[in-house]
Amino acid sequence: MLEPSTAVQYVKGIGPRLAEVLAAKGINTVDDLLHYLPFRYEDRLNPRSVAELRAGEMATVIAEVRNSGLFRTRRMPIFQLTVGQGRNRLKCLWFNATYLQGRFQPGQMVALYGKVETDRDGQLQIIQPQFEILGDIYEEGGASEAEKKAAASLEIGRIVPIYESTGQGRLTPRWFRRIIRWALENLNPDLPDPIPAAVRGHLRLVSPREALWKVHWPDAGESFADLQSSRTPAHIRLIFDELFFIELGLELKRREQKAQTGVAFQINDAVRQAIKKILPFHPTTAQKRVLKEIATDMQTPYPMRRLLQGDVGSGKTIVAFQAAIIAIENGYQVAFMAPTEILAQQHYFSARQILEKAGYRIVLLTGSLEQDRKRDVRRHIAQGNAQLIIGTHALIQDRVEFERLGLVIVDEQHRFGVMQRLKLMKKSDEAPVGTGASPFQVRVGRAFPPTSAEQSEAAQARASRPPSPATPEPDVLVMTATPIPRTLALTLYGDLDISVLDELPPGRTPIVTRAVPDERAADVWDFVAKQIAKGHQTYVVYPVIEETEERELKAAEQMHRQLREKIFPNLHVGLLHGRLDPDTKERIMREFQRGEIEILVSTTVIEVGVDVPNATVMVIEHADRFGLAQLHQLRGRIGRGAAKSYCVLMHGNKVSEEGQRRLDAMVHNNDGFKIAELDLELRGPGDFFGTKQAGIPSFRVANLIRDRELLEAAKREAAFIIAGPTAELSKEEIARALKAMRARWSLTYGLAEVG
Ligand code: ADP
Ligand code: MG
Repeated sequence: MLEPSTAVQYVKGIGPRLAEVLAAKGINTVDDLLHYLPFRYEDRLNPRSVAELRAGEMATVIAEVRNSGLFRTRRMPIFQLTVGQGRNRLKCLWFNATYLQGRFQPGQMVALYGKVETDRDGQLQIIQPQFEILGDIYEEGGASEAEKKAAASLEIGRIVPIYESTGQGRLTPRWFRRIIRWALENLNPDLPDPIPAAVRGHLRLVSPREALWKVHWPDAGESFADLQSSRTPAHIRLIFDELFFIELGLELKRREQKAQTGVAFQINDAVRQAIKKILPFHPTTAQKRVLKEIATDMQTPYPMRRLLQGDVGSGKTIVAFQAAIIAIENGYQVAFMAPTEILAQQHYFSARQILEKAGYRIVLLTGSLEQDRKRDVRRHIAQGNAQLIIGTHALIQDRVEFERLGLVIVDEQHRFGVMQRLKLMKKSDEAPVGTGASPFQVRVGRAFPPTSAEQSEAAQARASRPPSPATPEPDVLVMTATPIPRTLALTLYGDLDISVLDELPPGRTPIVTRAVPDERAADVWDFVAKQIAKGHQTYVVYPVIEETEERELKAAEQMHRQLREKIFPNLHVGLLHGRLDPDTKERIMREFQRGEIEILVSTTVIEVGVDVPNATVMVIEHADRFGLAQLHQLRGRIGRGAAKSYCVLMHGNKVSEEGQRRLDAMVHNNDGFKIAELDLELRGPGDFFGTKQAGIPSFRVANLIRDRELLEAAKREAAFIIAGPTAELSKEEIARALKAMRARWSLTYGLAEVG
């Protein structure tokens, strides 16, 4: 008897060697194997007859081999197979397929699948069809007649599942059919259903057992369209399962976070005044709304866990600063973390412009500070002199001691992912990995009464109260500039509350974007010269995927030299890249900000944060090499003032098909949400969400784009469970669902302790 958790190597026909091949595919257990779903189905119950075939359709054909052979053209060898039904013929061609020689015998039955076309003579053909030779299935079945018949019945006269081959083609669809069939037949028939009856009822879910059987072996009457689009009841049950247990974990996580002790910040008139005082402009309605959401959270005695989402240029920074003021005015420190050093510097720069005037004490703490300076800064932080601490994730990595940390602001930009965050939370005692670092590891020093005389009444009031016995968890505000479609955000950030800045500050004119081939560079530089003559500034961006990439850096340097010496000898052309020392970077940024540099050549370090409203042109070299999200981020650096802005996407002659699609998407869209959706489509959810980099397996059966509705349903049902027992939901059912959730999380994400 097989259990879902049984190692796959105990399935008949799989030994240790094949188990290894399967492991490479992420198939380790019987459960994994049963979730290796067919990627399509062939209708071998009602296959198309050759006579009915029409050019242009995708078709499954079962026919008899008439003849086959290899012929050589000047360019390549081509293998040709002709099959027939009665007098009707169908030709199949495979290019470079010498390996097919001798595979087909006249008289064999073959199943073919592919796109039907007509050749030059008007004859029907399929180029490179997928095929299975059915002629020998009776031979493979085993000793007895019955066994032979049973084996054959898996291949013909029904809807047949087609699996992706693997193991260099050794594990064929046919192989999977048999293995999975055997596993299903020998699976423990009493599988409990961890999904409560009420939830099953809401969604009319079939049992897990039925789902597994029918997703592999659909009934003859099943809708073929539903099968192909993964919309049969069997598919829906499996997809829902996957999404439901993730949402359940997130929902629980979220509730637990809320149950911890946080700081209840006070917002009185003095605080309100302080928030207003720093505003250099009227906030947008969206900014006001979002600040209110944040402030409300901050006033509760629970830790805030909020995501602030807003397209580039939507004005997140000022809202974050306002939140910072609430904390500071209450006598707490604020840590503001950025993913890159340049961005930290940029935030530091704007913080000084906006907050220092108001008397707040701000420090910058980054990895590249000199040792002495670092020690100094740390002392200021530990003693509570520094109120707003801006830095990179070095802030957490180096275990900074805060005197009284109340709020952590994390600018994630486009690095995100709930899985990453949860994973990092799990190992809070180890140094965080990579840059998706979690805010939750900030070491909180013991809370002392604030020392400064400059604090507001609220702070004084707060300080005079006895310190709470447990150190409260700081509030956390995560900012992301990646617009994520709402339903997806619910999942990615399922552990956070979400605020959205969905309105751009007034007075922006849409950016005009053009894709221009490299040979027209001279025109582009003419255009740049004209814009500069009008008093505007220009960015020229070079792709550097890794900031350390030597060659690209050279290219940027060379570009800089060429622009400075040859093309714009009378202008100031600056160069900015990640390798410059912090002082130089800050100086160059300041010069650009003040308009002393007219053209700034840079690597993608300016992608984030830089804010120069007078810059109206951005020329992006090799634009086709950038990802869509990144292009959009880059473009967000312009169009920040009232003047019309232009984004020029330079590209060579040879642009990949996908590169071209990205360029087109940029030219035709300004809306970050739209672009995010296109990006998601182009890259697939795995890459889009960065789960691949995080070493987290992507979904087994769910597809976040296709299954948005199920995702919403899963979230709804998860909340229903977490809300507690009702007349239709028993305590035992809740316990069983939570137990199953923990088991799955630990298996899939190594997050056993969630919940
Ligand atoms: P992002 O959301 O990309 O971080 P920023 O916070 O950098 O956006 O804001 C983009 C630009 O818009 C900045 O120049 C900022 O000063 C300006 N800005 C923000 N809010 C407003 C507003 N309400 N009215 C006018 N300008 C604003
Ligand atoms: Mg910003």
